[in-house]
Amino acid sequence: MIEALQVMPGIGPVSATRIAYYLLDRKRTEGLLMTKAVDEALSNISLCPICRNYTDVENEPCQLCSNARRKEKHSICVVETPSDVMAIEASASYQGNYFVLHGHLSPLDGIGPHELGLEYLKDRLSQERIEEVIIATSHTVEGDVTASYIASMVKKFDIRVSRIATGVPLGGELGSVDGNTLALSLNYRRDM
Ligand SMILES: [Zn+2]
Repeated sequence: MIEALQVMPGIGPVSATRIAYYLLDRKRTEGLLMTKAVDEALSNISLCPICRNYTDVENEPCQLCSNARRKEKHSICVVETPSDVMAIEASASYQGNYFVLHGHLSPLDGIGPHELGLEYLKDRLSQERIEEVIIATSHTVEGDVTASYIASMVKKFDIRVSRIATGVPLGGELGSVDGNTLALSLNYRRDM
């Protein structure tokens, strides 16, 4: 159990030992509920084949991709993480479709275009009728590099490509931005 707990980020042997004893001493019922929840999530949640957001294996493609009204917007918003989709959805400022990168380009960590699934995005650009790609990666160095890479890829398809603008703080991630600010940054996106 101590070894298994160390799979969590930031949990080393000392913390893992403390958690293990804590569960054994005081939280057996809760611990069992937690392992059941983890088991269910890991067994039943996969990536949507279209947007690569998390979805139930029984609901592929995901709810957002299956929504015909969203498809009519002919736009794809590219984000780094599934929680960015949730943040944008909560701001109710965007009605189109998404593509989730699950990270950003980071050659030193071995994360290139393939790891971000960009070939799937390319397939969508050539197969779907897309009129705009909005790049909503964070305003960090890696987020900007990723945005430029995707922008040049999208331009080859003669599709409008824009980048979310003001409001999202430099060095900031979308999840930490309130809904109104996020809505503004989408409205004031600029062409790339
Ligand atoms: Zn989807």
